[in-house]
Amino acid sequence: MHQPPLNVRPFGQAVDLDLDFSDADRPELVTRLLGQCSEHGDPAFWWSQPVSARTSALLRLVAATEQAEALSFTARCTQVACGEMFEFELPLHGLVVGADETTPIRVLLDGQRVVTLRRPTGGDLRQWRAARPASRAEAVRMMLDTLLLDGQVRPRDEARLAESIAAADPLVAFAVSCNCPACGATNEVPVDLDATALARLGAHQQALLRAIHGLASHYGWSESQVLAIPPARRAQYLAFIEHQS
Ligand SMILES: [Zn+2]
Repeated sequence: MHQPPLNVRPFGQAVDLDLDFSDADRPELVTRLLGQCSEHGDPAFWWSQPVSARTSALLRLVAATEQAEALSFTARCTQVACGEMFEFELPLHGLVVGADETTPIRVLLDGQRVVTLRRPTGGDLRQWRAARPASRAEAVRMMLDTLLLDGQVRPRDEARLAESIAAADPLVAFAVSCNCPACGATNEVPVDLDATALARLGAHQQALLRAIHGLASHYGWSESQVLAIPPARRAQYLAFIEHQS
């Protein structure tokens, strides 16, 4: 079941300058960001969304902000004898529509038992983060306790179920298969899509602050006056300033 994607506006209003991208509490930062920049301003709504829907909305926000169609990455070839750095691109459109966000995850165990789990939400991430599990095993148990809708989980099922949850949300445990241009070896490159999106938006925030600083000190414009200027014209003014000095 696919819901129509929510509209997002480009990042770059005055309120966006208040977001702290160094905040270690990533679920909180993502919720604030999406609440601010989407037509759904209620944080409770974003907490209730599946993790992959949040990631997908973040990527749409990057696309709207940068008018970009793809994200580019660099990776190092994992072949020890090679180790070449190479670049690859991910088209944003394919990432944004990829996730099936609402269907429960059904896993068949031992060929006979069925366990049904719901997909993790932003609120689950917040709760798990607050509980500070002492080990990976404890984290997995807590995760399964929260997500179990139906069926019985035995301790030996835990690893298998954790894998199934990751596999069911392709945007969460995201990896790209690329061939190294130097040696041709296939590399599975893990990509943290949330971290990538947040880094892009954080860089955009820094660029905005620099632009405000440059235009305010040169022309004496206020922050809100600078932000009211369309980005392309802002860039032109900044270029004039640079050519003068
Ligand atoms: Zn290679």
